[in-house]
Amino acid sequence: MLRVTGLLLLFLTNLVLSLPKGNTKITEDEMSDILAKYEISASEKCRDYVVADWNYNTDVENETKVEELNEQALAFAQFEKEQWQLHFSNVSWEDFKNETVRRQVRTLSVLGVSALDDNELSELNARQTNMTTIYSSAKICPFDKQQCDLATEGLALDPGMEEVISTSRNYEELTYVWEAWRNVSGAKMRDDYKKYVELSNLAAQKNGFSDNGEMWRSDFETETFVEDMENLWKEVEPLYLELHTYVKNKLKKVYGDKIGDDDLIPAHILGNMWAQSWENIFDIVQPFPNATGVDVTKSLNDQGYTARRMFETSDEFYQSLGLPENSMSYNETLALIEKPTDGRVVVCHASAWDFCDRRDFRIKMCTKVNMEDFVTIHHEMGHIQYYIQYKDQPYALRTGANPGFHEAVGDTIALSVSTPQHLEKVGLLENYADTEEDSINALMQIALQKVAFLPFGLLIDMWRWDVFSGKINESQWNAHWWELRENIQKVKAPVPRSEADFDPGAKYHVPASSQYISYFVAHILQFQIHKALCLAAGQYEPNNASKPLHKCDIYRSKEAGQLLSKILSPIKSVVLSVSDGLKLGSSRHWQDALEVMTGERQLGGSAILEYFQPLHEFLKKENSNAGNGTSISDYSDSTDQTIPIAVGGVLLGVVIVVIVGYIIFRRRAAKRNASS
Ligand SMILES: [Zn+2]
Repeated sequence: MLRVTGLLLLFLTNLVLSLPKGNTKITEDEMSDILAKYEISASEKCRDYVVADWNYNTDVENETKVEELNEQALAFAQFEKEQWQLHFSNVSWEDFKNETVRRQVRTLSVLGVSALDDNELSELNARQTNMTTIYSSAKICPFDKQQCDLATEGLALDPGMEEVISTSRNYEELTYVWEAWRNVSGAKMRDDYKKYVELSNLAAQKNGFSDNGEMWRSDFETETFVEDMENLWKEVEPLYLELHTYVKNKLKKVYGDKIGDDDLIPAHILGNMWAQSWENIFDIVQPFPNATGVDVTKSLNDQGYTARRMFETSDEFYQSLGLPENSMSYNETLALIEKPTDGRVVVCHASAWDFCDRRDFRIKMCTKVNMEDFVTIHHEMGHIQYYIQYKDQPYALRTGANPGFHEAVGDTIALSVSTPQHLEKVGLLENYADTEEDSINALMQIALQKVAFLPFGLLIDMWRWDVFSGKINESQWNAHWWELRENIQKVKAPVPRSEADFDPGAKYHVPASSQYISYFVAHILQFQIHKALCLAAGQYEPNNASKPLHKCDIYRSKEAGQLLSKILSPIKSVVLSVSDGLKLGSSRHWQDALEVMTGERQLGGSAILEYFQPLHEFLKKENSNAGNGTSISDYSDSTDQTIPIAVGGVLLGVVIVVIVGYIIFRRRAAKRNASS
């Protein structure tokens, strides 16, 4: 059957390739005129669609708004397809001399899945909607009542299962929830996923790519992208392995022999449903339980902070770098920064929005006055700042230099904001001793999120690239998934798995068809950018022990601000090489943007390694001592530990997934979520 499908794909590809290439002969001047007209109508259509999307997201149970969104999404999709067929398919964009023209047409020449014909597209939409609906509506019975009425007693993923996984220390309960979630989510999607892979590959071929993995990777414009990612991983793997060993030893003290004698950690005891971020087990792995913590939640509340004041504080941070003020993004008349009390149900997941008109940028967030949200605000503001900086670029180029850049910018700022040094400056932290032990604790907290994430961030798309390319046969899908989980992430399933399971489907981005490698890229890139900004700010000096990278705070540095805006701004800044980087949008190859900022053209692991170097040394010492049966710090129960609840993986409710199918035509998002 696979062979027949292959032949069918080949037939359809040939059919597409044999279509008349009417656009091939278009001159550069003609194309400039087309782009000028496209600019106006695309911006309008985009704005109409984003407004409808915003209205829906801030009032999800309002049926009129659902209908309006459906309508606008379809209209926008139709417009994009018409324009593509008329002007941008089969164009030899490589020949255009003007780089802005060339890059716009390059972007617009890839339509994505809308290149499918109507029947194929509606089949793909139906399959995807089915998968995301399964994901969003899946429920399980609680551990202590495994026969239950799902409708009234069932646990959803969030809140529900995620809370158990992040807070429970009962091995059997964790095993039960971990397995039950996979039974009701991934395992039910396998047939849909099979069809989804076929149709996505067909769409990719209609866009001129060999398979969907290649189409996704084209966003990164790098021939050796897969190899580069593997090399990057090899560079940072030693740090991950030390963290992994240390955490495994600590977990052994809690769970004993259940962990087993191999070098793998059972995937369900790391405080996260996918073992992708381990901050929820900080209480177990905290190196120095008696050292000072850096949670400023109490200070924020004691000092009477409100959501608005937290946003103003963040705005002031960006302005202190010499960047433009962005109060429009949290102005209550347009933006939404608190959960409404007027009965509306909203999608609370924090996100930053670009309304495609160069003026209107908003944040949507149900802000709580705590440290996590304080940091998240700075992250979202990073997206807004990026939007503002590249707003004067042509419509098609108003996006991150590559898909990893947008997430990296906000995270970079958050690296400064969450340092004890910064929190002291803004009066939220007092009497911080800043001993070496405090420092190791603070670094561990960050490593549990950022270092622990790396292998997971890499392997999701490694698996999908192999699936799309056909390198892995469907009969091996789940086995291959666990091969990668064991070899790269060094975690193992707590119960036997088989091909009756489909564990990749238990992670949101797989049924939602959302690329993931960008998160891996962002996790590496943010440290590279942070290092460059810190150097510019004079807050970090290589080989000066009193100014290490992990204590750097770029607050109030105009030099760092100027460098940051280089990535974000127009082409002239590269030529002059004095102004700014965020203004670039995607108007230049991302390597140019990276070079402007860091002087390097490649993604590299040296900055993240340097950032965590003190922790890395500590871990090596601890691990070698543990090997000898000694340890300089030990796990002790601390009763006043607050365990943060993981942010949910379900981004949108069941209703929206019906719509998602229509809007996947355009992979360029005007909305940025905080969640990986
Ligand atoms: Zn984000």
